[in-house]
Amino acid sequence: MQGVYLLHYERSLGKAQHYLGASRDVFERIHHHETGNGARMPAAFKRAGIRFKIARMWIAMPGENPFHLERFIKRRHNSRQWCPDCKEDQGLQVLMADLVDRVKGDEEPCSLT
Ligand SMILES: [Zn+2]
Repeated sequence: MQGVYLLHYERSLGKAQHYLGASRDVFERIHHHETGNGARMPAAFKRAGIRFKIARMWIAMPGENPFHLERFIKRRHNSRQWCPDCKEDQGLQVLMADLVDRVKGDEEPCSLT
């Protein structure tokens, strides 16, 4: 399954407590993070013995590029605002705002390249 995922770590490492990533195979990619392979930041968390949970996932639609979707989400510059664990009481509003934003449109067309 292709899409974007947000990992929430049980405690922070430096200033970071989240990791946002995209993949054409989300579960395989997350498995790599679990085993300490793949991106540098999740590997650092792994070495520090800090565990994560999958806080959110955005499934890319057929024909939608998950990396464009990731860029769209990253443009908000704050992973915490997307995290239901960190914004428990506002989870639904965040979700709705997310949907409205996506419907209103990313100026970049998302297509498979
Ligand atoms: Zn969080």
